[in-house]
Amino acid sequence: MIVQLDCALTTEAKEAAIARLRGFGLQITEVHTHRRHYVVCLGDKGLDIRLVGGVPGVVDVHRVSDPYQLVSRSWRVHPTSIDLGDGVIISEGSGAIMMGPCSVESAEQLEAVADFLVAQGVRIMRGGVFKPRSSPYSFRGLGEEGLALFSQIARPRGLKIISEVLEPSQIEVMYDAVDIFQVGARNSQNFSLLDALGSVDKPVLLKRGLSGTLEELLQSAEYMYARGNERILLCERGIRTYERAYRNTLDLNAVPILKEKTHLPVIVDPSHGIGIRRHVPQMSLAALMAGADGLIIEIHPTPERAMSDADQTLSFTEAAMIVQGARDVGGLYRALCR
Ligand code: PEP
Ligand code: MN
Repeated sequence: MIVQLDCALTTEAKEAAIARLRGFGLQITEVHTHRRHYVVCLGDKGLDIRLVGGVPGVVDVHRVSDPYQLVSRSWRVHPTSIDLGDGVIISEGSGAIMMGPCSVESAEQLEAVADFLVAQGVRIMRGGVFKPRSSPYSFRGLGEEGLALFSQIARPRGLKIISEVLEPSQIEVMYDAVDIFQVGARNSQNFSLLDALGSVDKPVLLKRGLSGTLEELLQSAEYMYARGNERILLCERGIRTYERAYRNTLDLNAVPILKEKTHLPVIVDPSHGIGIRRHVPQMSLAALMAGADGLIIEIHPTPERAMSDADQTLSFTEAAMIVQGARDVGGLYRALCR
């Protein structure tokens, strides 16, 4: 059950309200987001909701039957939209596109990508500077040098930045240089990282784990929400199955199902999802037709020379086809849903 308290309550009135809720035998978790004050109450499923609604200071009560609460669609009528400022908003059906290299490699590379994105009207740039790699001998990213390149090259061109954070200590280091923190598939259930990002006042894109179920993904999002961060994007990036013909199995079924289960925006990463350059454009458009609210795609000025994920990285020509196709498909999807 989600109980919303009046934000203007005095400390005493708030404590009195919480004591009354505890008195019903409920397990209480207080959640302060940047706009609201909630109390997540677990326990007595048969409790008459009107008793809770009658507690002084309670402005709203919702019964949620899902194992996750705050991220559930069943209590929030309006889908969450993530406002990055300067008119860049990721919301239901926005078809937001995030593009950039798997790894930030050099000023020249980032400049070429940034100029391309600006010319295409793409407002959000991706780029890893702290890279999780399967082999310790692979390129691990430029680290803080890469962050400086975002500030010198991408920000002055009006681009918003999404970049992966691997551990809590990197949050402060990255804070000024990024607009969205990405939690990678390998960290999808790193609960101390999720707890730490829950206290940050910047959006987080949370990827599905390599073998993560949708419920696990939603529970990981709940970790951050319960700590107060309500600006969360979920990302389907392919899961590991028995099939070896492609890098991962892009689970587009996840898109309509997640859209039913949660009010959070759903993004698809077809680059890691299939892992094969020539098939990324079709899978991008398929994701939008499945109802994805946005895409995150790897591109590079010379993809075959990319220092990570070269096989799935698109050239500018291929990327431009997706940008155009996404506009067409977005219109088609909206027409179908009308
Ligand atoms: C990435 O975005 O480059 C990345 C490492 O993604 P994932 O966590 O989905 O593997
Ligand atoms: Mn990558």
